[in-house]
Amino acid sequence: MKCFNTRVITLAALLLGCAGAATAQDKALNLYSARHYQTDEALYDNFTKATGIRINRVDADDAGIVARLKAEGSASPADVVLLVDAARLTRAESEGLFQPVKSVSLESRIPAALRGRDDGQGSSWFGLTTRARVIVYSKASVKQEDVDSYEELADAKNKGKVCTRSGSHPYNLTLFGAMLEHLGQVKTEAWLKGMVDNMARAPKGGDTDQIRAVASGECAIALTNTYYLARLMRSDKADDKAVMEKVAVVFPNQQSWGTHVNIAGGAVARYAKNRAEAVKFLEYLASDEVQAQFADGNNEWPAVPGARTANNPALEAMGKFKAETVSVANAGKNQAAIQQMLDRVGYK
Ligand code: FE
Repeated sequence: MKCFNTRVITLAALLLGCAGAATAQDKALNLYSARHYQTDEALYDNFTKATGIRINRVDADDAGIVARLKAEGSASPADVVLLVDAARLTRAESEGLFQPVKSVSLESRIPAALRGRDDGQGSSWFGLTTRARVIVYSKASVKQEDVDSYEELADAKNKGKVCTRSGSHPYNLTLFGAMLEHLGQVKTEAWLKGMVDNMARAPKGGDTDQIRAVASGECAIALTNTYYLARLMRSDKADDKAVMEKVAVVFPNQQSWGTHVNIAGGAVARYAKNRAEAVKFLEYLASDEVQAQFADGNNEWPAVPGARTANNPALEAMGKFKAETVSVANAGKNQAAIQQMLDRVGYK
């Protein structure tokens, strides 16, 4: 007799005399995800096929997921949480929304610099994909040698040329937090002040808006995460192609500590009821076979060193680069100190 494993037919299964079997098979995992890519869905289906663990997904943006976890408290059904950016993961961790995970597999595969805090109980979260924060500039009006380091964004030679999104956005908080690790308090605050002095306009919009602003001539130098560039590079739209003809990209600080790298990552929720399944799922996402596809879903790189990169022409065009090795958890943790500096220097 065939027994089914979905709740809706439990009554039927009961009548057929296999309720016990149905319950045993009804392993599930509640996933709260800020990632919404079709390629991810195929990976989740494969996980279910391989393990029999069904995935119930709640999709929201990062802020929505965090708000929901807080509102639900200890009654939260969440088992695994996927968020974007070390600043957000670090904040969620400090708000007590995660629990530490000890996993030999995750610790051997994900570099320590791409993991959350570990007080000896295991890491509070794990980076699963990486993205670089690079400088785009106008081919017509800027020389690469004038923008090949983050420090030069604040140099007087670039006055009136720089545009960025809000300094308080997590992507910038984590970059600036990494700068604090590299430069220390005094130099970082001076650098932020220098950037404010160099702005072509007040911060606004998202990363893609900054790239478009460089192409339109509103400004000449901007910061963006690499996957926004990759999206424009792969776009068939005529106006996207026109944008990419006007801008060039540089991976900053190749002669010093390397380009700033951030992560999207996952954690086990503080009140997870299906803890073993949650850890198994994170280990699955860190496996060789899944890493490349998971990262490529958003034009990112795998967090696991040596994991094959998917055949992605935009990522290949960007080439290999030297990435900084500062801990993203430390960079994320600096966000409160950075926000105070932003307020002091008037960086909106
Ligand atoms: Fe983004």
